[in-house]
Amino acid sequence: MVVAIYPGSFDPITKGHLDVVKRASHLFEHIIMAVVEDSTKHELFDIKQRVALAKACTIDLKNVEVMPFDGLLVEFAKKHNATAIIRGLRAISDFEYEFKMSQMNKVLYPEAETVFVMSALEYTFLSSSLVKEVVRLEGDVSTLVPAPVLKALNNR
Ligand code: ADP
Repeated sequence: MVVAIYPGSFDPITKGHLDVVKRASHLFEHIIMAVVEDSTKHELFDIKQRVALAKACTIDLKNVEVMPFDGLLVEFAKKHNATAIIRGLRAISDFEYEFKMSQMNKVLYPEAETVFVMSALEYTFLSSSLVKEVVRLEGDVSTLVPAPVLKALNNR
């Protein structure tokens, strides 16, 4: 069984993330969405909320599990016997960072492959940081985030 890790801050999980994990769920037997505990970025939702929201959004994907994680991704991957790391690619601007990260992870854990899933056309512009910015300015993000996230935003 090939276990894959899909790491990220998911603050908040967007329709772009969901699209990537849905498509990846057809490629791998088991996927662990690994939600970074200690986000260096400004947090919209804390770790508990981010995990709960990712779980609520992926409830229909039976081979997707959501877990918080801290520390080095490759150590988390080894601990869970994962041999694939999933990352989404939106634009060339993502490429340089992702390329360096995948090379570093290869050095640290040669048994794992990073697999890139290209963003769906309609979500190429979509990022959690932009969603946060629109939320901060009280704009409408209803077409950009899954229903559980929208509900959580409305309850804030
Ligand atoms: P990080 O803080 O590690 O960048 P994010 O939560 O922002 O984590 O993103 C996690 C992964 O999902 C990254 O590989 C990112 O490129 C990808 N991703 C984010 N938004 C989209 C999108 N709209 N389409 C495809 N992939 C995306």
